[in-house]
Amino acid sequence: MTEDTEEATVEPVVEGETFPWTFSTGGTTTAEVGPSCGESFGRWYCVTHEQISNNNLMHTSHCRDGYHRIAWLCEYHGPEAP
Ligand SMILES: [Zn+2]
Ligand SMILES: [Zn+2]
Repeated sequence: MTEDTEEATVEPVVEGETFPWTFSTGGTTTAEVGPSCGESFGRWYCVTHEQISNNNLMHTSHCRDGYHRIAWLCEYHGPEAP
């Protein structure tokens, strides 16, 4: 047990899945995950912790361990399956 690996589990959301979305203004809505359009303009979003990541490689930087559901926030269409 000398490895210093992270215990985080990252799992992508699936198309058709819904999750609560909180606006920066305080309101909430239900977001539905759409199909991936293949565009590269967007950001990763952790559904579990409601954290947006601008770094594609650091999905779990906001919380080192635990379980993370990751959605792709498309610049054009909103949440999409990765
Ligand atoms: Zn997370
Ligand atoms: Zn899109």
